[in-house]
Amino acid sequence: MLTSTVEPSTAARTRPSYSTFPVSVVRLQRRSESFVRVTFGGGSLRDFGTTGLDQRIKVILPLPGIGVSAFPDGIDWYASWRALPEQLRNPIRTYTVRAVRPEAAEIDVDFVLHGDGGPASRWVAGAAVGDELAIVGPHVEAEDPLSGVEWRPGDARTVLLAGDETAAPAVCSILAALPRETRGSAFIEVPCAADIEVTDAPAGVTVTWLPRTHTRRAHGVALSDAVREWTALHLAGRAAAGSVSAVSATEQNDEDDIDIDHGILWEVPQQRSTDDGLYAWLAGEAGAIKSLRRFLVSESGIDRRRVAFMGYWRAGRAELN
Ligand SMILES: Cc1cc2nc3c(=O)[nH]c(=O)nc-3n(C[C@H](O)[C@H](O)[C@H](O)COP(=O)(O)OP(=O)(O)OC[C@H]3O[C@@H](n4cnc5c(N)ncnc54)[C@H](O)[C@@H]3O)c2cc1C
Repeated sequence: MLTSTVEPSTAARTRPSYSTFPVSVVRLQRRSESFVRVTFGGGSLRDFGTTGLDQRIKVILPLPGIGVSAFPDGIDWYASWRALPEQLRNPIRTYTVRAVRPEAAEIDVDFVLHGDGGPASRWVAGAAVGDELAIVGPHVEAEDPLSGVEWRPGDARTVLLAGDETAAPAVCSILAALPRETRGSAFIEVPCAADIEVTDAPAGVTVTWLPRTHTRRAHGVALSDAVREWTALHLAGRAAAGSVSAVSATEQNDEDDIDIDHGILWEVPQQRSTDDGLYAWLAGEAGAIKSLRRFLVSESGIDRRRVAFMGYWRAGRAELN
């Protein structure tokens, strides 16, 4: 039985930021070689929050024979879920809301197909209309409507967005919501050319898709090269304009030894930028993002308060819950 509930960190709030929404699959669309769009429906989704951007959600996957019936509700759902015997503990995975249609009580989520090595990818490969799951996501009346959203550019008007296929839904949602005067670049690395989508972005933001099959290079290499090249040009442009604001690695209190095999790479600026300079957002495989973090912060001296770095998954390791 699933009813409204909240994330542990928000339990003290008067109004919960997150709720549990019982859902079923209403449509499945194979978007491309690597992506399946799942449309979830359910009456309670009329109360789903609509901020969009890189809004993250938890997808509660069904267990054979019992579906999501054992998934606990209430404020302490997470602690209760952890206390369940393993055979009753539904797999939980993190995804991005690609579209929200409260009037139709529907949301879309774009899943990457990456084989049968994980419960989410395995589920979506065999998903059928009518499958019942649950989504833990933002409530429309949440006290903090930006809970679970990391895109916080403040007044920045030059943006750099970079991500792999798991970040493509977030990057596309952010691009579509950018103020039209925004300038900058977005780089999206995907498995193959068929995964390229038509993207809605301001005229001043260049969107570059980087299909790996074109280059036959390993995951993250094309993204890394593109970000390095863009950063060199950006810094050269700022130097030519006499507005260099790089800070030294020491000043940045760099912590490059983040252990991405036992922890989560998640470093996002807490304060919003109050000038119209750069804001960068990078998400994808943790090893690739960690190396981009080192390049931008330690080698290029970009102020880490201007960059959000997020390890969305880690090669060779299932999502930690
Ligand atoms: C905030 C956030 C938003 C996200 N949004 C999306 C989204 O919208 N769409 C999306 O598809 N993913 C998204 N992800 C990534 C997704 O949560 C992970 O890919 C997750 O590990 C998938 O779960 P799984 O059960 O399929 O695999 P797991 O059980 O977690 O992992 C099993 C194995 O598969 C490998 N693996 C996991 N993901 C991939 C991959 N993409 N390619 C190759 N190997 C992989 C792991 O390294 C591991 O070896 C997001 C992650 C975060 C943190």
